[in-house]
Amino acid sequence: MKQFQYMRPTKQKAATDAVAKDPTALFIAGGTNLIDLMKREVMQPEKLVDINMLPLKKIEQRNGSVRIGALVSNSAVAEDRLIVEKFPLLSQALVSGASAQLRNMATVGGNMMQRTRCYYFYDTALPCNKREPGSGCGAIEGINDQHAIFGFSENCIAVNPSDMSVALAALDATVLLSGPKGERRIPFIDFHRLPGDQPEVDTNLMRGELIVAVDVPESPYAQNAHYLKVRERASFAFALVSVAAALDIQNNTIQSARLAMGGVAHKPWRLFDAEKALAGKPVSEESFWQAAEVAMRGAKAFEHNAFKLKLAPNSIVQALKTAAGIA
Ligand code: SF4
Repeated sequence: MKQFQYMRPTKQKAATDAVAKDPTALFIAGGTNLIDLMKREVMQPEKLVDINMLPLKKIEQRNGSVRIGALVSNSAVAEDRLIVEKFPLLSQALVSGASAQLRNMATVGGNMMQRTRCYYFYDTALPCNKREPGSGCGAIEGINDQHAIFGFSENCIAVNPSDMSVALAALDATVLLSGPKGERRIPFIDFHRLPGDQPEVDTNLMRGELIVAVDVPESPYAQNAHYLKVRERASFAFALVSVAAALDIQNNTIQSARLAMGGVAHKPWRLFDAEKALAGKPVSEESFWQAAEVAMRGAKAFEHNAFKLKLAPNSIVQALKTAAGIA
């Protein structure tokens, strides 16, 4: 690991100023991904700005939403009474991720900022446009079983590894950011970006901007929600495909739906057209297959991940059936 400077400010402005002024600086909170990347010299910040002294560790009920501070640990969110009661989808997604030890250290903001687990990104001997822009993408012609089937570019086909983010994208969450130019809010689905011709940029954060909190609006989806994660082993593995499914059901008719997938794109992949296809339909396996067919339009596989073209629609149907209670 390369040497770096370390500071631990107690004021938010001091933290954002420190990162805004120094292009080699990064925020650190739980460090569960960043420290790994630094040990492997995949990321080499010259300064770490530790934000753990900032007062961002609360979960609060607000008018019509629940605000989750950026420094709340993943395990604290998953176990929180309000979250379990109002957003079981989020709780389930968090519990499906990592291990108990990692969930105790990892924070909400850090979970949103974690980098792809593409093998080529982690191996500094191999080409990777995300790690070293212009070096090429090792995965496109290489081993790509874990990679994207939606939204990729000729420069990068990596997927976002976060389970939490898939649930927050489905639940219409908003991200509160603070930076040198003040505060701003962005929809959670606009926080992460597709690779395009800048795969080294994972998010729409501006330099020096800090994730302060995530607001999750109250919704009618607590009763019928399910997070399904399909992976190569039963725990401590990233999703091959995951589905966050939430339904508002009245008299056996779907009033509205929220659907997002993980493990298929460079960002949590919200399925707006499939949601529209479900609205007004009866709760039935047939309705769910129709929605899955809509969801898969435009999907394209590479040499080793064609299995996702079958796994993804099957997972959508299974997640919807479990959410609806007809599994
Ligand atoms: Fe790098 Fe993206 Fe290609 Fe993986 S898929 S090797 S992260 S450029």
